[in-house]
Amino acid sequence: MNDRGIPLIDARHMAPLQPSGSITVDRPAVDTRGRQMRDLRISITDRCNFRCVYCMPKTVFGRDYPFLPRGDLLSFEEITRSARIFVALGVRKIRLTGGEPLLRHNVERLIEMLAVIPGLELTLTTNGSLLAKKAKSLCDAGLQRVTISLDALDDATFRKMNDADYPVSQVLEGIAAAEAAGLTPIKINMVVKRGTNDQAILPMARFFKANATNPGRIVRFIEYMDVGSSNGWKLDEVLPSAEVVKRISAEMPLVPCDPNYPGEVAERWRYLDGGGEIGVVSSVTQAFCSSCTRVRLSTDGSLYTCLFAEHGFDLRHLLRSAQSDAEVSAVLDDLWNQRADNYSERRSAETAALKKIEMSYIGG
Ligand code: SAM
Ligand code: SF4
Ligand code: SF4
Repeated sequence: MNDRGIPLIDARHMAPLQPSGSITVDRPAVDTRGRQMRDLRISITDRCNFRCVYCMPKTVFGRDYPFLPRGDLLSFEEITRSARIFVALGVRKIRLTGGEPLLRHNVERLIEMLAVIPGLELTLTTNGSLLAKKAKSLCDAGLQRVTISLDALDDATFRKMNDADYPVSQVLEGIAAAEAAGLTPIKINMVVKRGTNDQAILPMARFFKANATNPGRIVRFIEYMDVGSSNGWKLDEVLPSAEVVKRISAEMPLVPCDPNYPGEVAERWRYLDGGGEIGVVSSVTQAFCSSCTRVRLSTDGSLYTCLFAEHGFDLRHLLRSAQSDAEVSAVLDDLWNQRADNYSERRSAETAALKKIEMSYIGG
């Protein structure tokens, strides 16, 4: 129990919550460092059809892995109710994630329910494997944009990264379908793991630069992070973003450009010859905690105020215990007001070894 009376609990062993008073919040939630709550990431399944080596290694997420039972998942009604409360607290963007969010049965219905909330940008992050089939129905349901993960363009490296034998062509078809459906601009995320797929950086940059006439396909190179505790993260497997920029720039000169908005996570670089832009996300080498406005809701309704948290807050219990929206809102406001998270500013060998919550459970 912390000093303001909000219990922080192990996400997998939820304890009852003692709700605080019923205060109606009429201003955006702000934390101890003046950071507003702006972005909500909702993990809608802890399952995935990939076994990416940096996220769900097969050695841990094998056949017998105890994924969440159905009854533990937040229902669409509970997710939508939470979303409305978060929006009233200042959230302006919701990203559906997972696990692989397109595996959640009838995800289009959830999108329809969220899309009618006023003042909200609605996006989704996917491995792209099911997008060719689903892009149109997702767009028709009200999804605005997608981010698609793609870790290499050659099949051998891509299969090594996803470790589930998926070919690159399936993701490229997904990207094309998302574009055709209008889920643009599309961000393409490549996690770079030194020694595993860093040789794929240049082909990736070349390919998407050559297709730059197609508006809004922006590749973002992401530093391999010490999320969770099952990927065996080592600092020497992180390729710093500065090195990514140097490698690309040596062949296709890049110049830095201004962020689209204050606190943008990806640093933008544009090609000097006008051939579009790339982004780099340097969570390991350049902490951006000072402008972090993200809050995360796990598949079973635990709330996390940092990606590297060890404990969550049992929002599901609160939602299921007949509290009014104003009461739930007051507790969430209180929780955010206490937030002081800054993991990336104090990352070390010791913190990397902590038992942190898994990315596939909390959502990327
Ligand atoms: N399955 C979907 C996908 O892969 O896009 C959504 C969930 S996944 C957890 C969200 C994002 O987290 C992906 O872009 C993935 O590459 C990224 N990610 C997972 N583990 C990571 C790690 N250790 N370091 C950096 N990014 C990671
Ligand atoms: Fe699945 Fe996404 Fe994790 Fe890869 S990164 S294992 S696709 S949840
Ligand atoms: Fe935000 Fe935590 Fe990442 Fe810092 S370490 S940027 S507080 S999620």
